[in-house]
Amino acid sequence: MRLVGWLTALLLAAGVAGAVETHAGPKKIKIRLINSYGQDAGYATLKAVKDGVKVHLEVQNLRFGDHAIVLHENPVCDAPDFEGAGGHFNPSGKEHGFLNPLGHHNGDFPGGISVDEDHEGEATYVLHSISLDPGAPDSVFLHGGTSIVIHTRPDDQKTDPYGDTGNRIACGVIKP
Ligand SMILES: [Zn+2]
Repeated sequence: MRLVGWLTALLLAAGVAGAVETHAGPKKIKIRLINSYGQDAGYATLKAVKDGVKVHLEVQNLRFGDHAIVLHENPVCDAPDFEGAGGHFNPSGKEHGFLNPLGHHNGDFPGGISVDEDHEGEATYVLHSISLDPGAPDSVFLHGGTSIVIHTRPDDQKTDPYGDTGNRIACGVIKP
């Protein structure tokens, strides 16, 4: 009797979960980051939320200071310079930065990440111009994927196309 009760509860729970699930693709993904030396630089999680994607980063083995974070257009992290990541993810065809009247790129972040003297840092943002849905025009899985890149300098949020962010110091591949 007890077992039947449990099974019924499970089936009901599964049915309810199925009914409210409208999002296609993964709800949440976790990606590893590497630094310019190819060392473990921590990770990022991307979680589908109502109005976009919540991105949380926990980094390590990076130089002290404030750094820009940007989603780039290629799923490539080729240390040491990560040039293979390409330009900023921009399927909407806009210019760079939240302070740019012609902005912003889909992959631009409204802020950066502060790395402390222990070479660690944390940051969380919600991006409204990207999606984890593989069928969406602004999907992070578009054309095989994208990458999250951390840069030497903070983002000035207006200089097209790169926001004066300098070199690329960490990278993580996002693939379907
Ligand atoms: Zn940009």
